[in-house]
Amino acid sequence: MENVNISFDEMWDKIMECDRSYDGLFYTAVKTTKIFCRPSCRSRKPKKVNVEFYETIPECIEAGYRACKRCQPDIEHCPQIDLVRKTTGYLLNHLNKRIVLQDIADHVGVSAFYLERLFKEEMNETPREYLEKIRIDKAGYLLRNTKRTNLEICYESGFQSPSNFYKAFRRVKNCSPGDYRDSAGIKESCDAMD
Ligand SMILES: [Zn+2]
Repeated sequence: MENVNISFDEMWDKIMECDRSYDGLFYTAVKTTKIFCRPSCRSRKPKKVNVEFYETIPECIEAGYRACKRCQPDIEHCPQIDLVRKTTGYLLNHLNKRIVLQDIADHVGVSAFYLERLFKEEMNETPREYLEKIRIDKAGYLLRNTKRTNLEICYESGFQSPSNFYKAFRRVKNCSPGDYRDSAGIKESCDAMD
């Protein structure tokens, strides 16, 4: 599994939303309880200062953490899950590139047809739908936390044109990127961290 290319603050956002899309790509370890969880775990949320993130289960265990009994990050229910995780990891790391299904299939070493069917069974969405969702997530994060223009964010999130970006953003978030940014308020201090 390649390392996932997202920041601490983005991972923090995912766990606040209990977002299942990122399960298997990183783990939340809570220093006070010594427990590690999936991003989607619905247990009470830790304080941000008590959290560290790891990309693999062996790293969590090495650091002295035990698996959460509620979300059971150490137990996967589908034997083909590795393939799905390789796919989500690949998409996350390449979301600003132009990606076709065959690229992913080549990367994970199966046919495009098989990959799409398996992915849909496990994630209830196609790889394309998943990719659009994580692109919108990235755009939302950049809108909230940076002063980059809508156009910059459009391309940085992997959309091919502003019209695609606006259409997809509105479909998922029910508002325009500009309104989303206004309603979130821009955090001035975050620019320095990019
Ligand atoms: Zn948990």
